[in-house]
Amino acid sequence: MKKITEFFRNLPPKHCSDCGEVMEEMHESYMNQCDKCLRNTDI
Ligand SMILES: [Zn+2]
Repeated sequence: MKKITEFFRNLPPKHCSDCGEVMEEMHESYMNQCDKCLRNTDI
């Protein structure tokens, strides 16, 4: 089962769909925007 571990390790970092910045994986998976853009959406 080594392949599965490597697969997850090699996953590219999540990018913000708005500004394209690399996001920390602390966000829930349904979030596609970084913290900054999420807060800017209400403008
Ligand atoms: Zn962003």
